[in-house]
Amino acid sequence: MPTREDAPIRGRDPSRPPAWPAPPVLPGDDPGSIAIAAERLRAGGLVVFPTETVYGLGANALDARAVARVFAAKERPAFDPLIVHLADASAVGTYAEMEDADDPRVARLAARFWPGPLTLVLRKRAVIPGIVTAGLPTVGLRVPDHPVARALIRAAGVPVAAPSANRFGHLSPTRAAHVVAGLGSRVDLVLDGGPCRVGIESTVILLAAGRATLLRPGGLAIEAIEAEIGRLEVLVDGAPRTAELAPGRAGAHYAPRIPLVLANPRDPEAALAFVVRPGERVGFLAASAAGRAAAEAAGGPFAAVEVLDANGDAVGAAARLFDALHSLQAADLSRIVAEPFPDVGLGRAVMDRLRRAARAAGDVREEPAFNR
Ligand code: AMP
Ligand code: MG
Repeated sequence: MPTREDAPIRGRDPSRPPAWPAPPVLPGDDPGSIAIAAERLRAGGLVVFPTETVYGLGANALDARAVARVFAAKERPAFDPLIVHLADASAVGTYAEMEDADDPRVARLAARFWPGPLTLVLRKRAVIPGIVTAGLPTVGLRVPDHPVARALIRAAGVPVAAPSANRFGHLSPTRAAHVVAGLGSRVDLVLDGGPCRVGIESTVILLAAGRATLLRPGGLAIEAIEAEIGRLEVLVDGAPRTAELAPGRAGAHYAPRIPLVLANPRDPEAALAFVVRPGERVGFLAASAAGRAAAEAAGGPFAAVEVLDANGDAVGAAARLFDALHSLQAADLSRIVAEPFPDVGLGRAVMDRLRRAARAAGDVREEPAFNR
C-alpha cells in the first residue's frame, strides 16, 4: 500500500499514466494526512473521507469544476443533488437563505442532532453553484459526526460537497476498502477512518419555505425528529411531487449486483424463495439470529449467510447493512434472499434500502417503498 510520503500532493501530470491503479489511502487519524487532504480539496481535488454514515466523495462545494469531477467519478446523473458538509451549524446562514436559516426548527434540530446523520434541505444562497444542487433552488446541509470529517472540513476552510463514495446505483461504502474497490484511481486520495458507525446514509428532511417533509429515511429515526418539530409530511415513491422534491430517489439505488428478493422465512406463501435448486448458490440476509434459524428450517442450504443483528436490533442492523451486502455480493451467488425488517425507527431506513435493492433487481412486489 502506498505510504503517506508517496502521496502525490500536487496534481497528476495528465500526459503520464496514473502512478497508482488504486488511490493513495492515508490514515485519517493523522494530522499530516488531514493537512494533505485539505490542500487537495482546496486545489480542486477529490478526497474520500469517513463519516459516521458512509464514506463520502468530497469536493470543494464552492468550486463548480471540482464538483463536476464528483459527478464524473461516480457516473452520477446531473439531476441528483449533493449534500454539503459543514464543520459546524454556524455556517448554515452563509449557505442558506436567511428566512430558512432563521427558521427556529433549524436551530432546534441543529442543536439536538448535529453533528449527526441528519440533512436539512433549505433554500440556497447564490454562493452555492447550481451544479451542487442539480439546479434546485435548495441545498442539503449537514454537519457530520466523525472526527476525521470534521477535522478535514475545518482544515480545508470550505464547505465540502460529498455524495456517498460509490459509483451511481452501487452499494454505499462503509469501509475504505469498499471505496478502493469501487472507485480506484478516479479519486485523488482516500482517508481511512475504519468502519462507519451508523452505516446508513443520513435522514434528509426539507424545511424550505416552512415545509417539513421527509425526503429520505436514514440514520436518524424520524420519530426522534418528530419529537422535536412535530409531524413530518412523507413522500411516497411514484407520487407526482416526489421526483421533483427528492430527485435522488431513483428505484435503482443501493443495489447489489445480484438479484435480491425480500421474503419472510415464517411466511408459508414465501416458501419458494427459500428452496435451493441443485447448482444454485443462494445467499440469505437475516434480520436476526432467529430469522436465520427460520430460513434454514424453511429451505437452504445457503452458500452464504449474513445476520444483520443477532437480536434484530435496528441500530446494529443499519450499521451492518452495507457491509453485509458487500460480502454477499462478493460470494459468487446466483441470488440473495433478504428477510424484511420491522418498519419502525432505524428499521425504516434499513427496509428502504432493501426495498430499493429488490426493486432494482426487478422484484416489484414490494411497493410502496415507504409506508407508515
Ligand atoms: P447522497 O447520495 O447520500 O449524497 O445523498 C444525496 C441525496 O440527498 C440526494 O439523492 C437527494 O435525495 C437528497 N438531497 C440532497 N440535496 C437535496 C436538495 N437540495 N433537495 C432535495 N433532496 C436533496
Ligand atoms: Mg449515495
